[in-house]
Amino acid sequence: MTAPVFANSALVKAPERFVLREAPWRQRALWVRYGLYLGAASGPVLIDTGYTSHALHDAGRSAALRFYGRALGASLQPRGQPVPFLARHGLRPEEITTVVVTHFHADHVSGLRLFPNARFIAARAGWDALRAHGTLGNLRHAVFPELLPPDFADRLDPIERKPAVRTDHGTAYDLMGDGALLALPLPGHAVGHVGLLFTRLAKPLLYAVDTQWMLAALPAPRRPGFPAMLVATDRAAQARSCDLVAGVAAAGGDVLLCHDPTPTIYDEAAPCA
Ligand SMILES: [Zn+2]
Repeated sequence: MTAPVFANSALVKAPERFVLREAPWRQRALWVRYGLYLGAASGPVLIDTGYTSHALHDAGRSAALRFYGRALGASLQPRGQPVPFLARHGLRPEEITTVVVTHFHADHVSGLRLFPNARFIAARAGWDALRAHGTLGNLRHAVFPELLPPDFADRLDPIERKPAVRTDHGTAYDLMGDGALLALPLPGHAVGHVGLLFTRLAKPLLYAVDTQWMLAALPAPRRPGFPAMLVATDRAAQARSCDLVAGVAAAGGDVLLCHDPTPTIYDEAAPCA
């Protein structure tokens, strides 16, 4: 019955109108969540890594990665970085043995090199696409292979090889073998993009990652058009994924997104002022 807890690694600025149809043009500071799940028998499970200094400050970054960080206007949140976040839960990065990689965008894999003892549960389809695309192809999809550990392929534990289970929302994959944490394919945003379904909580939780940026944008009339639509690898599939996630919410489940800036009960509580 352990719920995941999420940290906010960075703030990213965008006009609200870009991420929510008919919203004002005012700038919004979006979050970049990642999570920690302590309910697996095999040990602590990290859910993505958020934005870290590897993507934004490392001296050896490519020109493309420097440009990308500047374009997003990302600012790291020191308290929400993986090392202090894990320390508050009594953990060091070396103790993380599993990282679930929901997809390969920079703000989800930026800190993978912090975890030398982790295996990476990710869609092989996403990994194959990353390897098949050239530099420009990856750039077009905001994928920067330089952020991955050099031995990523050896440590990959493909989602597609996990036991498939039927759910009310389609076929999912049982990541830990206990039925409590399922990967639910949510195609469209990126190749191999998956959400995570926590089935054993008092209220089921779907961490729908980047299916949309804002919860209010899940219903069809509020989904953003240009330029947000350019990010999607498959717009029709993304629309179906939005429908699926909206259906989970309508059925009484909780839905959490990576970038929505409204605090939730799954976010680590802010320190008292
Ligand atoms: Zn993404």
